[in-house]
Amino acid sequence: MAEDCLFCKIIAGEIPSNKVYEDDAVYAFHDINPVAPAHILVIPKKHLGAVNAAADEDQALLGQLLLKANAIAAEQGLAADGFRYVINTGDMGGQTVHHLHLHILGGRQMTWPPG
Ligand code: AMP
Ligand code: ZN
Repeated sequence: MAEDCLFCKIIAGEIPSNKVYEDDAVYAFHDINPVAPAHILVIPKKHLGAVNAAADEDQALLGQLLLKANAIAAEQGLAADGFRYVINTGDMGGQTVHHLHLHILGGRQMTWPPG
């Protein structure tokens, strides 16, 4: 757990969240400010500041994150119509919370290019 990390506090239950899924390594919850009808954040319990802070030892964890996101997207009924994953990284990437998180966005038509 990193000091002053919002998502570490959510994992620890110090800040409430609308939980979707939890296991030993992964936590998922509804985004507090959804930008699509379905907007879920999938995060590793291990604090990684961003996806590019991952090291070789995190290889399995990154795989788990994606596989769990796939399962959650399917459970949420998003798989048939399609959905989008977003991992904002760094300032130019629009990252505002510095704990790795994968956005699952679905329930509406996505556009390209993203904003
Ligand atoms: P990013 O801009 O990629 O760093 O995404 C951070 C996301 O965290 C945003 O979509 C926020 O709406 C979301 N967020 C911030 N605080 C909370 C919170 N307390 N509970 C749930 N989602 C949050
Ligand atoms: Zn954290």
